[in-house]
Amino acid sequence: MDLKLYDTYERALRPFQPIQAGRVGLYACGPTVYDYAHIGNLRTYLFGDTLRRVLELNGYAVHHVINITDVGHLSSDGDTGEDKMEKGTRRTGRSAWDIAAYYTQAFQQDLALLGIQAPAVWARATDHIPEQIDFIAGIERQGYAYRTEDGIYFDTAKLAAYGHLARLNTAGQRAGHRVELGGKRSPTDFALWKFSGAGEQRQMEWDSPWGRGFPGWHIECSAMSSKYLGALFDIHIGGEDHIPVHHSNEIAQHEACHGHAPARYWLHGAFLQLESGDKMSKSDGGFLRLATLAERGFDPLAYRYLVLTAHYRSPLAFSWPALQAAQTALNRLRQALHALPEGGMPDAAYRDAMLAELNEDLNTPRALALAWEVLKSPLDGQTKRATVAWLDQALGLGLEQWRPAAIEVPLAVRELVEARGLARREKRWKDADALRLAIEEAGFILRDTPDGTVAEPVPG
Ligand code: AMP
Ligand code: ZN
Repeated sequence: MDLKLYDTYERALRPFQPIQAGRVGLYACGPTVYDYAHIGNLRTYLFGDTLRRVLELNGYAVHHVINITDVGHLSSDGDTGEDKMEKGTRRTGRSAWDIAAYYTQAFQQDLALLGIQAPAVWARATDHIPEQIDFIAGIERQGYAYRTEDGIYFDTAKLAAYGHLARLNTAGQRAGHRVELGGKRSPTDFALWKFSGAGEQRQMEWDSPWGRGFPGWHIECSAMSSKYLGALFDIHIGGEDHIPVHHSNEIAQHEACHGHAPARYWLHGAFLQLESGDKMSKSDGGFLRLATLAERGFDPLAYRYLVLTAHYRSPLAFSWPALQAAQTALNRLRQALHALPEGGMPDAAYRDAMLAELNEDLNTPRALALAWEVLKSPLDGQTKRATVAWLDQALGLGLEQWRPAAIEVPLAVRELVEARGLARREKRWKDADALRLAIEEAGFILRDTPDGTVAEPVPG
């Protein structure tokens, strides 16, 4: 069954062909670790995880790399403004290194709570300064770099195909620009290396052939993807905001150095929006974190469920009622699955239909709908359970691993359960039935387990 993916570079759905049979190199742009991730950021990593799971379901061994941006991302996404890490320092009073370590760990924890599989490699920008310097030197040797007062810049006008990914109209931009260029030759030129300002005391700075300073934001991904996945790898992913700047610039750097783009497929996840239509953004403060959802009693996996109900290329508006609906649906799915007997095999026709949906550019809403269809189908219980569990390898909802929360059963109910057990042992069936009714009226149902009969809250 063919896997088709929507490639932003070609603006087309393309059959996926790996460079090497059976293997996929996958690079995802990681977070800038000056603050917590918001649930919008996390949507993008859920998309990456779904892609990886679907590739694995198709039999590929996926070599997944995520970078950690802990230096060089300036507050404008361009080359002006303050380094976000140094800004984080001012906000928290802690060192840039401390902040990076703290928020990296918080990010990794969020991913784990969402059932997102850890990549084979976490690549930190500050651990790869020599590789970035080498890459810049390569660009310079090919004649694509120039020096200004504040750094080394990439000369985008020298690259005929610059901006193709974003279908940028660079000629129009050059003709019509009113923007302050600083020392740049074109508005689309970007920093490869920035110099520490005279008299500026940066916490993160390094020596280089061009002077003391720090790398531009885009060079880390070029240097680290080349190091871990080779100069040409299969799939590069990120959020849709990366199309016009970050990924366009990564491609330019690679074309200058290697004569081709780094990856054969470019996939981009659509943004999570607030219900108001506003963009969720880290720098605005007041953003929603996974922990914010947990504080309101939601399961992180309910957020995963919500994200799966939308196609990754469709915008998704977050609202509390939508999250509540996702939580309810997830609870029902868990309970329905666990009420079925184990030990079956997936139904071949449904399995093929589910894979076909996933292989159509990761159509998770349709695959999820098929899971519900399976549960309502006339298939036997064992087959239903095995079929939905099979799909969950791609959904990542951890359905089989789920265990009902041990909700405290009140003493009065426990006494009723005990009295009923005694009535049964003494074969007083009428009493036993009356006690069962009393237990149910208290909002509990009885379930037989290997450890005896227990009362559980009525699923709802
Ligand atoms: P950052 O930490 O700002 O570098 O962003 C990390 C990732 O989150 C990037 O791939 C962004 O494209 C993505 N991202 C940022 N905001 C959103 C959003 N509202 N919805 C989905 N993805 C986002
Ligand atoms: Zn990147």
